[in-house]
Amino acid sequence: MPAPVGLFPDSPCVCTPWGECACGHEERALRNITNRSWPHGPMTPEQREWCIGEAVWAGEGSCRREDMETMPDRDIAADTLHAWSDWVKSNTDF
Ligand SMILES: [Zn+2]
Repeated sequence: MPAPVGLFPDSPCVCTPWGECACGHEERALRNITNRSWPHGPMTPEQREWCIGEAVWAGEGSCRREDMETMPDRDIAADTLHAWSDWVKSNTDF
């Protein structure tokens, strides 16, 4: 689900050196965090909470809220990205 408007500042894509890809706004932000190129300092409690909610929902049981609450920002961002890709894999037929 989309994050509330303004939860994450816009950030460049880190998938390609030329900065072009198909990532949406939230995915770009999370990839910047896992890549240590997040230019905006630590994640806010609101950003962490949104990610945990996404990972718990998309992870379908593989991400536990109580484990994630104590994780560093990078791990939260990485687990959220993994949960999204797992969700896509288990909910598509091609
Ligand atoms: Zn990208």
